[in-house]
Amino acid sequence: MAKNHIMHYNMNLLETTVMPAFNKEQVLVLTPMSKFYPEYWDNLLALSYPRELMELGFIVPRGKAGDEVVKKLETAVKAVQRSSTESARFARVTILRQDSESVESQLEKDRHALKAQKERRSKMALARNSLLFSTLGPFTSWVLWLDADVVETPKTLIQDLATHNKAVIAANCYQRYYNEETKKNDIRPYDYNNWVESEEGLRLASTLGPDEIIVEGYAELPTFRALMAHFYDPHGDLSTEMQLDGVGGTAVLVKAEVHRDGAMFPSFPFYHLIETEGFAKMAKRLGYQVFGLPNYLVYHYNE
Ligand code: GDP
Ligand code: MN
Repeated sequence: MAKNHIMHYNMNLLETTVMPAFNKEQVLVLTPMSKFYPEYWDNLLALSYPRELMELGFIVPRGKAGDEVVKKLETAVKAVQRSSTESARFARVTILRQDSESVESQLEKDRHALKAQKERRSKMALARNSLLFSTLGPFTSWVLWLDADVVETPKTLIQDLATHNKAVIAANCYQRYYNEETKKNDIRPYDYNNWVESEEGLRLASTLGPDEIIVEGYAELPTFRALMAHFYDPHGDLSTEMQLDGVGGTAVLVKAEVHRDGAMFPSFPFYHLIETEGFAKMAKRLGYQVFGLPNYLVYHYNE
């Protein structure tokens, strides 16, 4: 095969099954990273999916802050990849540097201001696309999008999501915090980008100019969409599914064929949606279905 410098891959043999580890399916874990959290790394290392079937890809913004992130990430990666046993090493690790710096202020309140969203989310879309298109291989079965500030997931995250056998499936992203009222540790919804479209959302979109976007989770843009974050039932079945129209990028498993068919993260308004929400729309336009697991929680760092 290598002799003639021709690589043959039979895409028919590339599978996505409900037993991905047993069937030796390659999973590409992709993380855009503007901050390095040791908790993210520890959680990643704790995942029980076989490492020799896992590839990791990171994209880090340019600039000083990015340099610091790369340093920490490299140290962490080297410690693992130097392991003498093959099963302790990831199949491959790619670190990309973005061509641009991250949007100036990364303070949570600035990041989340509505006027900052279009620029920030469209830059994020470009970063996700660069990462995806530079790392997706002909042998990749699944892509797990996992944000750098997702610090706690079940160890079986990949297997649990894959078991549902969906083209796109998102976990429900919550956050741990100290509840001042009850004086107890508590949890609250974090990612509002997993949603079901509403009549009101569609009506709102129909009033917008071609370059205008809707981003979910803002009082200024009342969509009355059903948000998966609000469907969490602590006593409910972990495997309960709900069909979605928009997804966030915090923890979402995608069959690689969805990306291979062309579903990416629009940095421009696509049906008035961008980035991960636009991706869900694009996957649906390609004929795939998008799901979420309201009772299956992962946790976002509390800044
Ligand atoms: P939020 O949780 O919705 O506030 O969004 P974040 O700021 O956490 O961004 C989502 C993901 O993208 C996280 O993994 C960040 O580390 C990462 N990120 C944020 N800004 C940038 C950026 O400018 N470039 C890159 N490469 N990653 C970024
Ligand atoms: Mn985040």
